[in-house]
Amino acid sequence: MNDKGFTTQIVHGDRESLIEHGSVHKPVHNVVLYGYKTAEELAAVFQNKQPGYSYGRQNNPTTTALQTKISALEAGIDSICFATGMAAISATCLTLLKAGDHLISSQFLFGNTNSFFQTLTQFGIEVSFVDATDVANVKAAVQPNTRMVFVETIANPCTQVADLKAIGEFCQQQQLVYVVDNTMSSPALFRPKAVGASLSINSLSKIIAGHGEVLGGSITDLGQYDWSQYPNINESYRKGDPQKWGLQQIRKKGLRDMGATLAPDSAHRIAIGAETLALRVEKACSNAQALADYFAQHKAIKQVYYPGLAGHPQHQRAQELFCGFGSLMSIDLVDDDACFEVLNKLQSVVLSSHLGDNRTLAIPVAHTIFYEMGPERRASMGISEGTIRISVGIEDQADLLADFERALG
Ligand SMILES: *Cc1c(COP(=O)(O)O)cnc(C)c1O
Repeated sequence: MNDKGFTTQIVHGDRESLIEHGSVHKPVHNVVLYGYKTAEELAAVFQNKQPGYSYGRQNNPTTTALQTKISALEAGIDSICFATGMAAISATCLTLLKAGDHLISSQFLFGNTNSFFQTLTQFGIEVSFVDATDVANVKAAVQPNTRMVFVETIANPCTQVADLKAIGEFCQQQQLVYVVDNTMSSPALFRPKAVGASLSINSLSKIIAGHGEVLGGSITDLGQYDWSQYPNINESYRKGDPQKWGLQQIRKKGLRDMGATLAPDSAHRIAIGAETLALRVEKACSNAQALADYFAQHKAIKQVYYPGLAGHPQHQRAQELFCGFGSLMSIDLVDDDACFEVLNKLQSVVLSSHLGDNRTLAIPVAHTIFYEMGPERRASMGISEGTIRISVGIEDQADLLADFERALG
């Protein structure tokens, strides 16, 4: 199947393994427990000597099918799904880092990830926030106890593109675990494997599921990190193929012990949504480019943040690394105070947080999702008080342009 294209792999993936009653979708297994005929079998499953399922918190056939799809999308060796993207991020950090370690993170970060990294510092993990659009800042922050570098592909809300490739080369040299949050680009636009990432994280709640009706998250091992060199792998997980040690520890300590399990129904819904990922991304990107071009020449708008505009500081980089420029952008109005008034005039655009939805969404970020972090941290992320973030959907382009024309006019 690996020689097939992106969408072919997703829509035919379930039939590659055991087909239950000819079903083209992996059936939803709403089950907590798995019973075995003999005690020997039960023991063999628990000891990983025979494939099988032990308990619903740790594994489920429907979720396994989704994990296989996510691994195919990311060209990774294996994936683990979680109840949310934040569960995937927190489980990864809490199981691979320990007190006394140092994490380098991009300072341009999803708000809740930023908040979670503050929590890590309460457990004795040092965190440095750097401008990750230039690898020099990552290099300058490295300490003897640095273990992990965490970046997003296209940052929210101001669309900075991290120096993904150079950071990957540096992490490989230094044997640092390189975690890329790929949510904003999705594997349809970018595969972190291409820049040497160790792990790719996706919030499945966003454009992968796409329809705004299900939460989920995933972590994929891209098979490029040598876990036998990583000091924080517990003795009990240093068994068998070292390529699998990292995910094994995240699965046991992060999923089984912390318990943010994806529901089987959710796994099914995400798998259905993912079938049209590439089509939706293509439409959303083309709508986003049209809107960005329109905003860029509008007199009421001071600044447009979108990697598809030639004036964007990382436009070249985005063009080189991604198959498209994404569906997220932000605008600053000439008059910051007019921000609510403009938003209130929108008719089909939904005033909402969230992103990567079929519907176009708009939100005044300083007043909502980035409110809690305060003005100083906001300024460090390039967010001004009137910044409006727009997640572009798949509506008909003329209707979108007309809605903004009315609101800005
Ligand atoms: C939404 C988002 C998350 C968190 O995902 P949830 O599924 O909402 O928990 C993490 N990272 C990025 C970049 C996101 O946009």
